[in-house]
Amino acid sequence: VQRPEMKDFYEWDKSEWPKMVGKELPHRLKQNLGPGRRLGIMLTFDTQGDIDGGVRHYQGGTTRWNDDHINYYDMTQRMYDIRAGVPRILRLLDRYGIKSTFPTTGTTAEWYPDTVAAIAAAGHEVAVHGYRHVLLPLLNDEQEREEIVRARDALKHVLGSTPVGWRSPMYSTTNRTVKLLTELGFSYMSDFHNDDKPYILENGGKKLVHIPAGLDDWEMNIMKVPGGISMGGQPYASPSHVADILIGMFEVLYSESVDEPQVIQFTMHPKVSGRPDRTYGVEMFIRHVQGRPGVFFTTMKDLAAMCL
Ligand SMILES: [Zn+2]
Repeated sequence: VQRPEMKDFYEWDKSEWPKMVGKELPHRLKQNLGPGRRLGIMLTFDTQGDIDGGVRHYQGGTTRWNDDHINYYDMTQRMYDIRAGVPRILRLLDRYGIKSTFPTTGTTAEWYPDTVAAIAAAGHEVAVHGYRHVLLPLLNDEQEREEIVRARDALKHVLGSTPVGWRSPMYSTTNRTVKLLTELGFSYMSDFHNDDKPYILENGGKKLVHIPAGLDDWEMNIMKVPGGISMGGQPYASPSHVADILIGMFEVLYSESVDEPQVIQFTMHPKVSGRPDRTYGVEMFIRHVQGRPGVFFTTMKDLAAMCL
């Protein structure tokens, strides 16, 4: 019997990380934040609408019952983004005077330009979240570059200015992504889960800020049933449970921020957190933290600029 070599049992080595991200440099928030500012909070809202459901075999095929039939239960959950989720989130942010970041796909800008324009008109940042929310590892080198450029151009067309931030669809970063974003002149990305702190990635003398991807409302609110329909799942927690998790994270980082500036980035989706019950949880969190000395809400773009 031919046995594989021992080394063939392993698929990851820690040397992969620096090869992929380049040189890592610490953030400079301490120098740049200014007196009295301790903890920056970024509430971000990945906005896709039903365009993600249009990707073939999306999430193992949850958006189709079979080859002949679209799953309108799942698809309409996705459509909620545009029809109700974004407007409710915009009203919430407006009530509390908070500016946020909405990572949005290029196709969303093409299908729903009014929604994207309304987000920008309310003073929020729109970042790039792929062209069609396709998993980047499914693409070849050329296609990944095309996906990023097309997405940015489609958003630029609606916004009238070039978006500078990136989050990969489903955090599906490839070994190419960091270098491509750097080369294409992006200021920041927000894909990784390995730190509470932002850091700077340097490649070919150019810098790209990384903002922690943080907790995600998808995992916190949508039950994962193996082989089941994720979008149709039940929330595993009540709004106050979700708010409790966020408040716990806040309290630990807030006390640590006495010595060193801290950030919180919470990834949400209007189709998830824009449902009335879940918006209530986000609002509980905002009420808990707003007004605490040194706490400020910001966009990822502004935070990235403070990191350099
Ligand atoms: Zn997404």
